[in-house]
Amino acid sequence: MDNSPTDTPPPLKRNSNDVGWEYGVLCDARSLDKVKCKLCGKEFSGGVFRMKEHIAHLKGNVSACPVSSKEDQEKCKKAVLEGKNKKNLKRKHEEALRAEVNISVTYKIF
Ligand SMILES: [Zn+2]
Repeated sequence: MDNSPTDTPPPLKRNSNDVGWEYGVLCDARSLDKVKCKLCGKEFSGGVFRMKEHIAHLKGNVSACPVSSKEDQEKCKKAVLEGKNKKNLKRKHEEALRAEVNISVTYKIF
């Protein structure tokens, strides 16, 4: 029997693995806030999250990248949305765990 990895939690992702770094670089190694777009050369503050918004043309905080391709935009948009969903999922999961504890105390089925 081999060990199924399905229940193994994914390793904690560092910011350095972020898809945004495919498109941006740090302007200043001492600051994670100042980033520069590799595609158009624009510099702005806000870190890799802002970089993804720039590439994905998610307006509001930063101007859209004039060079990013449709593919780049979709990729970064997905990453931004997934980041938001992950936060919601975590909260839901914690609530579910708490509910499960209450249920198991009552019914002892689990
Ligand atoms: Zn750009």
